Amino acid sequence: MKKVALITGSSRGIGRAEARKLAEDGYAVCINYIERKDKAEELVAELTEKGYEAMCFRADVSKSEEVNAMVKAVEEKLGHVTLLVNNAGIAKQCLFQDMTEEYWQHMFGVNLNGAFNTIQAVLPNMLHEHAGCIINTSSIWGMHGGSCEVAYCSTKHAIIGLTRALAQELAPTHIRVNCVAPGVINTDMVQVLGEETLEMLAEETPVGRLGKPEDIAAVVSFLASDAAEFITGQVITSDGGFMK
Ligand code: NAD
Repeated sequence: MKKVALITGSSRGIGRAEARKLAEDGYAVCINYIERKDKAEELVAELTEKGYEAMCFRADVSKSEEVNAMVKAVEEKLGHVTLLVNNAGIAKQCLFQDMTEEYWQHMFGVNLNGAFNTIQAVLPNMLHEHAGCIINTSSIWGMHGGSCEVAYCSTKHAIIGLTRALAQELAPTHIRVNCVAPGVINTDMVQVLGEETLEMLAEETPVGRLGKPEDIAAVVSFLASDAAEFITGQVITSDGGFMK
């Protein structure tokens, strides 16, 4: 069966590294983006030049109609999605008492409903084929608490629940569902913390550095591989030993 991967939020950061790695692994890849069309097209050009099959598509993962249109386009251009990587996410900090309902709904809309929408869209064909792989993205904050991160932590805890329950439900159909839980990875998302804090976090990380997007792409590549065919419902942390 042709290997086709859809990676959400992959014009930059962790998703970009995942798209590159999965293309190297032999997947035709769809790079999903919401705002940086130029970066997505640049990645498609880079991969195509190397002889890989790639396309990009703009879709807000929190909107089911946009996700459905994206999956239809992928199926028409590349084929049925055999690997879904739910990477798109947003992170914001605020005190719980200052949190508006809109803020809460937006965070859940992207980080949790986004995964619901994409899984719903790709699942019918995976069920038909009795094969498929879904990899969600949680965080170390999906297993621990973080001050000023109540909404983000809640969505990332929920992603783990979704992963574990869906893995149980889909296991008899040979569709695997796993989750990667990154530690502090040096991407645009964490720049809001400031240089000083990032340096401090690197020092606090037992391996002595922040994570790179490629560290997470390597985990995703493994979870998607045949070597992981007996692994489902798991959360794999990659954090340089940050959480003891
Ligand atoms: P990033 O901000 O660089 O990338 C996030 C991507 O998601 C961007 O391309 C963004 O455009 C996209 N996105 C946001 N909202 C979207 C939407 N509605 N529809 C489609 N795409 C959307 O951050 P990153 O560090 O690469 O994060 C990737 C994932 O890893 C996220 O789910 C994040 O929560 C998770 N994560 C990151 C870290 C970290 O330290 N960087 C740690 C733990 C977990």
